[in-house]
Amino acid sequence: MTTDPLLARLAALRAGDLPVRGGRTMAYVYDSGLDGLDDLANAAQAAFAGVNGLDMTAFPSVVELENDLVRRATALLGGGAGTFTSGGTESCLLAVLTARQHARRTRGVCDPELVLPETAHAAFHKAAELFGLRVVRVPVDPATFTVRPADMAAALTDRTALTVVSAPSYAHGVMDPVAEVAAEAARRGVLCHVDACIGGWYLGHLRAAVRAGHLAPDAPHIPAFDLSVPGVTSLSVDLHKYAYTPKGASLLLFRDAELRRHGWFAHASWPGYPVVNSTLQGTKPAGPLAAAWAVTERVGAEGYAALSTRVHRATRALADGVERIAGLRLLARPGASLLAVAAADPEVDVFVVADEVRGSGWYLQPQPAFGASPATLHLTVTAAVADEETVGLLLADLEKAVVRARAVGPARVDPALVAAAGALDPDTLGPQEVAAALALAGVGPDGRLPERMAPVLAVLQALPPRLSERLLPEVIGRLYQI
Ligand SMILES: *Cc1c(COP(=O)(O)O)cnc(C)c1O
Repeated sequence: MTTDPLLARLAALRAGDLPVRGGRTMAYVYDSGLDGLDDLANAAQAAFAGVNGLDMTAFPSVVELENDLVRRATALLGGGAGTFTSGGTESCLLAVLTARQHARRTRGVCDPELVLPETAHAAFHKAAELFGLRVVRVPVDPATFTVRPADMAAALTDRTALTVVSAPSYAHGVMDPVAEVAAEAARRGVLCHVDACIGGWYLGHLRAAVRAGHLAPDAPHIPAFDLSVPGVTSLSVDLHKYAYTPKGASLLLFRDAELRRHGWFAHASWPGYPVVNSTLQGTKPAGPLAAAWAVTERVGAEGYAALSTRVHRATRALADGVERIAGLRLLARPGASLLAVAAADPEVDVFVVADEVRGSGWYLQPQPAFGASPATLHLTVTAAVADEETVGLLLADLEKAVVRARAVGPARVDPALVAAAGALDPDTLGPQEVAAALALAGVGPDGRLPERMAPVLAVLQALPPRLSERLLPEVIGRLYQI
């Protein structure tokens, strides 16, 4: 309860958001469920709110904190150097930038390529666009949704600056064959990045729990995925995911500091202060760094091993439970703590299931069909979901949601609309055509989205991706009209 009207206003705004605690929001947010951790993180964040990580000579505390965090991470995941970043996207961007500079400076590559499984995170496409690399897209095995080493190998050329694998992929939660791809990359003299943004902290500590015998007798097999694998040259691991730290915290680890230096920016050719930036930021908030340091110190290796064990058990229980629900199926057995749930028969539309289950207080993230992947619901399992009662509740609510979704029937898209949309050229659309297209998808002039998202998602899914990429910023742009 607050009497400050501004804080009251903030609280009122927050009430319209998805909850960030309690485990019912199964994407975007991570809840350890541990008592007192939020208070510690908030106090650490506040203590460093004014500190500027831009100049590490003026604020030596940030060097100390970052070194501690990197040391903790390299002990877990191998590697010889690292950089603290603002999040997974920035870690991925910097991995690509570092590789581009390395290829340019050490191999003379001036038209670099980025070899990506089609399941790679969108952040790598953003990196390619920002930093001028050509994306070479490699299809995944339609049965496992993991990339095949031979396909990745065939995509490598003299211009390849970086090849990427996911441990696991965000959309499907499965592990790419890290060791095989990394070995081939090394043979060709190409750098190999492991995107362990979501899986690194969780799997690293789960592996420790397995080694300590905590998961016997049915311990999971965790394939080698980190910087101890020959050929892996960099790895991204987010702290604001399974290290349960406040937002704005990720690490990019490197095999050594010699590779890391290629991604740094230094500038002495201006009349201002000498610049050395290890990330894309200039002025750099130290609050997330201090909070990440405090949270990881408090939870500790043992604490994370226990959290990973809980999450592993809950993921397995959820996976088994989903397979028993008529009308749903798992796209793949989870390689980590993520589930991708697809419809098992055409009368069940997972987008409608998402709308229905949201009515029971759960947010499951809809993922439109792409390539070999059907439409799915994404579930990130965090420690707050990891008790039997919550798992049971979710499965029961999901089962009921499927029954209701079957009664409602799938969201349908007018084939004439799809045909008309297919004829549009995204590059030449005028304001009127944009407005008409959005109205057909149910998006009003104020950008407000309808209560039920299934019809909008169905339209989005039916459009060519390039047209969606033209329309999506228009939708969001309307929200920001003043
Ligand atoms: C979350 C995630 C990212 C991007 O991280 P952000 O912190 O959301 O910027 C990249 N790759 C994978 C596999 C992820 O799960």
